[in-house]
Amino acid sequence: MLIKDYDVEVFTPPCEPGAERFAARARLMVDISEVLPYLNATLRGAVYNPAAQALTWKKGGHNIAFHAYAIATSNVEDRDAAEKELHGLIELVNRTWERRDEITPDHDTHQRPAPMALYNLLPQTNCRKCGQPTCFTFALKLGASQVSVEDCPPLFEPEHADKLAALRALIIDAPSIN
Ligand code: SF4
Repeated sequence: MLIKDYDVEVFTPPCEPGAERFAARARLMVDISEVLPYLNATLRGAVYNPAAQALTWKKGGHNIAFHAYAIATSNVEDRDAAEKELHGLIELVNRTWERRDEITPDHDTHQRPAPMALYNLLPQTNCRKCGQPTCFTFALKLGASQVSVEDCPPLFEPEHADKLAALRALIIDAPSIN
């Protein structure tokens, strides 16, 4: 196990007093820099900065950051959820480290797909079957990992097979952290 001991702090960011959003930060006793290229290879939409030894990721609207000696999440709905998510992220790092022999590390920095690039591969009918008001809203949320391609039923119709394949090439399914 890579991360055994850590301290957790849950707080409301000072720039958002009264915003009722929470952040949590774990201070680590071990340097996790070596696991970042493995996370970069497996987390959809992650942005790795090798010079800073940092990797940022968005999941469900939460902003997540991995640093050498810290892991943080922010923009979480409540205090308990922030702490639970942080423990899930610790487990994710430990699981990824244990599986590192099965993963090809990725040392490159990838930009998140632009919303318009995603939108261009959607059916563009604004049918709302995904629960979003427009295909462009869906594209924005897809880029932020708040929805997945499975949430758009029309994409699975035969006529959109090429678009579905191209979308999947742009994005990689994210693992669960819970
Ligand atoms: S279900 Fe797909 S096609 Fe329909 S609005 Fe959502 S993204 Fe667009």
